Amino acid sequence: MTFSELGLLPELLSAVNDLGYTEPTPIQAQAIPRILAGKDLLGAAQTGTGKTAGFTLPLLQRLAPHANTSASPARHPVRALVLAPTRELVLQVYESVRQYGKYLPLRAAAIYGGVDIKPQIEELRRGVEIVVATPGRLLDHLEQKTIQLNQVEFLVFDEADRMLDMGFMPDIRRIMERLPRERQTVLFSATFSPEIKKLAQQLLHEPETIEVARRNTVSETITHRVVRCEAAHKRDALVELLQRHPGQALVFVDTKIACGRLASLLQRRGIQAEAIHGDKSQQQRFEVLDAFKNGTLRVLVATDVAARGLDIEELPFVINYALPPNPEDYVHRVGRTGRAGHEGLAISLVDASEEERLQAIEKLLGRPIPAETLEPPPRERRAEPARRRTERSGRAPDGFDFSRPYEPKAGAVLATTKQQPEARRAGSKKAVAVLLGGSGRAQ
Ligand code: AMP
Repeated sequence: MTFSELGLLPELLSAVNDLGYTEPTPIQAQAIPRILAGKDLLGAAQTGTGKTAGFTLPLLQRLAPHANTSASPARHPVRALVLAPTRELVLQVYESVRQYGKYLPLRAAAIYGGVDIKPQIEELRRGVEIVVATPGRLLDHLEQKTIQLNQVEFLVFDEADRMLDMGFMPDIRRIMERLPRERQTVLFSATFSPEIKKLAQQLLHEPETIEVARRNTVSETITHRVVRCEAAHKRDALVELLQRHPGQALVFVDTKIACGRLASLLQRRGIQAEAIHGDKSQQQRFEVLDAFKNGTLRVLVATDVAARGLDIEELPFVINYALPPNPEDYVHRVGRTGRAGHEGLAISLVDASEEERLQAIEKLLGRPIPAETLEPPPRERRAEPARRRTERSGRAPDGFDFSRPYEPKAGAVLATTKQQPEARRAGSKKAVAVLLGGSGRAQ
């Protein structure tokens, strides 16, 4: 099968050719003809399958009759809307629209939060046919009347499951009220939960369903390992793992607060690390991502949401500091390593409270994950109860002990918790304040 057999316009074929794609991926072969035929579509596909081109190419073709070079904003109403859960994904889709549409005079804009709204208002005022947006910022524009959606003919939901997970449903409902009923709608989701099915029923009209082989068939080149340890020992185990494997690593955590805190901890232990999560400014996220992609940053600590849409090639090592609640996210996380035949290593730090999650992941993978041990020295275990009795504050859900002094240098695996003279001098309050990004909670 070739791209020209799919009935794409010469302008689109040239753009695809420029990118060096020789044949459509399975999702593209299925989605493109259906979308070109004007059908609504429900697609089960994850990142990495080529789904972006699967909807972007036919979207551009459907809009091609409207393409014009007029300077008048009235000649460039919004005709296509792509909704995506994160800024990174918005930018990735926007970039695809620009690349695939480079030989067509259609205008596109990326609309997302965390940046100044004014340049976006200016861009929208000049007129754009294609808007790629996160729901929250799009709603801001609708409320400020800086965007009109009454001429939208084509609507795409990308990673719809993630949008629902992130609580965008109320925003999506309000956006839908502003869209014409007569339109073509395409919805992509990695999973088909009952909520997604309900959303699809509400939004799609007699959709065709397409599915490509799930990526839970994770690459055979990835080595999976589980390291069981107590929650309170995870951070030391993490440091140890990073010392044993000196290359780049992507570390997944489940909360924004854990993300920032762990990156600080690693920095203090002499491991170059940065955090990426939804509360960082757009500029910070770009810088951190660029540094990681070009190899100048060694460790990136990320939440699932922030990691969506990261297209990092040849990453050798992924660490799950905490297992994800959704087993498919495990597949998604470890899919960042072992790409294109490269060797990859995925290690998960698992405490007792995560056994159920681990079982669900092993079920999805269809095999158990071999365990490795990083036993703490015996004296640490003995020291634990005594220290606990003297604690004033509690532990965070991930086991981070707020009352424990920060230890600047990791020694052996799960180093002894006996305070070293420097640590005592530094005092626990200051160290905890640094880890929390301020002094307030440490007082
Ligand atoms: P996506 O699943 O849309 O995020 O795409 C994953 C990656 O595959 C991107 O880096 C695309 O540039 C690339 N890609 C998309 N379609 C093709 C194709 N037909 N042949 C080769 N690479 C492709």
